[in-house]
Amino acid sequence: MIRVKGLQKAFKQNQVLKGIDLEVAPGEVICVIGPSGSGKSTFLRCLNMLERPDAGEIELDGDVLQFTGKDVPMKQMRKLRAKTGMVFQSFNLFPHMTALENVMEGPLVVKGQPKEQVKRSAEALLAKVGLSDKKDLFPGQLSGGQQQRVAIARALAMEPSVLLFDEPTSALDPELVGEVLKTMQELAQEGQTMVIVTHEMAFARDVADRIVFMDEGVVVESGPPEQVFAHPAEERTRRFLSKFL
Ligand code: ADP
Ligand code: MG
Repeated sequence: MIRVKGLQKAFKQNQVLKGIDLEVAPGEVICVIGPSGSGKSTFLRCLNMLERPDAGEIELDGDVLQFTGKDVPMKQMRKLRAKTGMVFQSFNLFPHMTALENVMEGPLVVKGQPKEQVKRSAEALLAKVGLSDKKDLFPGQLSGGQQQRVAIARALAMEPSVLLFDEPTSALDPELVGEVLKTMQELAQEGQTMVIVTHEMAFARDVADRIVFMDEGVVVESGPPEQVFAHPAEERTRRFLSKFL
């Protein structure tokens, strides 16, 4: 589903991504872990074209973009972005729209699908994340956990090939973390391809097919959770994981 080769990104003199390689199979769930500042968010933002990589290659569900000194056409970037759905730490819902309207907005405005059909799909998605009874409420009337589940439904509404999550539970009160992780776990079981940046190590151990440990702009090691958590190959991984014991 995803093939990333030699991905690089710098902000001025700060070389943040130093050549990332990663392959993700259809239906695979990847959890990306690593210290703050190691480039995890930048990597996700490159995957959905919120940032323009300096070098390397991204293949996503059959489309390939190569990054060189030259500009990649906007049209190609948009096509790639449309294949990803992003869920942010801070929910980023439209505050003046109800939960239902938030989920309907993308298919209506970006895809131009008929309103009745969009409404039915949006209602089904809100049911899936357990929020049928909240569909007419505004974000401000919802808990953080409920808002994040609306954000997940909104991302799903665009029928992305891959869902990207950037620390989706770090802004939540502890008692609300579980409901969001449960929703994500259900999506994983349905075979949704997902790349999840998270500090929830128990969740990563239970749900991920593969753990990717990033540090200082490189993938230090990756493997099945039981391998990376129980027998990390690299000293840097060991040191990072020891902080969670
Ligand atoms: P992580 O998500 O692993 O904490 P980030 O990808 O957010 O790491 O950040 C990695 C580095 O890139 C940090 O040094 C950060 O300051 C820098 N960085 C991220 N985004 C920008 C930006 N838009 N402009 C300048 N520097 C940035
Ligand atoms: Mg981050």
